[in-house]
Amino acid sequence: MKMNTTIDNHDSDFLSSVEKVFEEAAGILNVADDLKEKIKVSNSTYIVRFGVRLRGKLFTFTGYRSVHSEHREPVKGGIRYSMHVNQSEVEALAALMTYKCALVEVPFGGSKGGLIIDPTQWNANELEKITRRFTQELAKRDLISPAQNVPAPDMGTGEREMAWMADEYKRLNPNDLNTGACVTGKPVSKGGIRGRVEATGRGVQYALQEVFKHDRDLAFAGVTGGLSGKRVVVQGLGNVGFHAAKFLSEEDACLITHVLERDGMVVDEEGIDIEALSTHISEHGGCKGFVGYESDSKVGLQADCDILIPAALEGVINSTNASNVKAKVIIEAANGPITYEANHVLRDKGCLIIPDLYANAGGVTVSYFEWVKNIGHIRFGRLQRRQHERKTRQLVSGIEQMTGAQFPQELLTKIVAGPSEVDLVRSGLEDVMCQTYQSISERWHADDDIPDLRTAAMIIAIERIVSSYESLGI
Ligand code: GLU
Repeated sequence: MKMNTTIDNHDSDFLSSVEKVFEEAAGILNVADDLKEKIKVSNSTYIVRFGVRLRGKLFTFTGYRSVHSEHREPVKGGIRYSMHVNQSEVEALAALMTYKCALVEVPFGGSKGGLIIDPTQWNANELEKITRRFTQELAKRDLISPAQNVPAPDMGTGEREMAWMADEYKRLNPNDLNTGACVTGKPVSKGGIRGRVEATGRGVQYALQEVFKHDRDLAFAGVTGGLSGKRVVVQGLGNVGFHAAKFLSEEDACLITHVLERDGMVVDEEGIDIEALSTHISEHGGCKGFVGYESDSKVGLQADCDILIPAALEGVINSTNASNVKAKVIIEAANGPITYEANHVLRDKGCLIIPDLYANAGGVTVSYFEWVKNIGHIRFGRLQRRQHERKTRQLVSGIEQMTGAQFPQELLTKIVAGPSEVDLVRSGLEDVMCQTYQSISERWHADDDIPDLRTAAMIIAIERIVSSYESLGI
């Protein structure tokens, strides 16, 4: 079934795009055909239809949870609430989770879920009822469980839905000490971790900072200079797009010149105020009425810019528009925004594509930290913070005694304070994003058969999965 329902083209759908990249990478690695087939296919996809009595009548909802690979457990991946959810989409997303986790060395298999629903059509009480019923259905089949399958937020879901799911799971398993680890992306007050909400957007920022340290990669795209002053187009100002745009403009001096949304786009060559635009969107339900508003957002993807950040749906860059895309660098904050065919067109034009399985892995990376926090039942940094402070003070007083000089007060305050949970989360995330990019880039340049960063990333992921299968003796 074609995924790009709004786009009339003959591109591969999302699942076949993912599978084609897998096939090519596995071919370069010479993975045996039988093992290749085993890794490629989804292990299982569960479809559930359940009824919820609302507004005096029974509504039937359809939900999915696909498990792509259980070479590591628990399997991990978000739950999406959208009218576009279907089996092929959740299977593509579950497969991407497997490769994503392997690539960033998060010890999970891949899974993904979805519910066919337009969350804007239901109030909070109704959504809670629906989410709790869906959780019961998933729990019956161990498709939510701290040891086996751990959902997280995705498009249309967030902390609130995760809190409902965790609470429902806890009610069903009152004797399990680890129920808090049954989902990630929970509010901090319900066992979540600081830094998870913005993690995917933060990961996109760290990824770009690292890309801009790699001159060889930038030369491929004809980009010079640092991130500062680069013109950026952001498609989709949801959680990921908003945080990426906010951090890049506030901390890296990028100019967000275009923001593309469902009801149009906002253009400002001087740089859009992202916080103000986001507030406008939540107050008015769209970007209409904001300074620089234009109703036709399609042309935005073809705007003259340095960096394009597709942060919404899959398949938005396809063979109907790829040849007109002018961005030199595209970073896939969304899953699957570029079709297989469009990827070829862009690569041939010298566009540097930072692939989804790496670019948006910040979310699952911090989910991993949250899961570890939950099963450890302790906040990161809780034991060390004071000790760090004491040791640093001792060191400083040693330096003062030896030199007879006073340590600068401003510096003292900064270095003495021990790391908080969010400091540790950011440091762990930055490390993952930097190290992973270095290995992908190195791999790309080391082998002439590897055409791009996407194939290089997939190769690294497959190698790890193959070695896990081989050590299991399967
Ligand atoms: N839904 C996010 C993703 O696609 C996060 C998954 C997770 O944290 O498990 O990567």
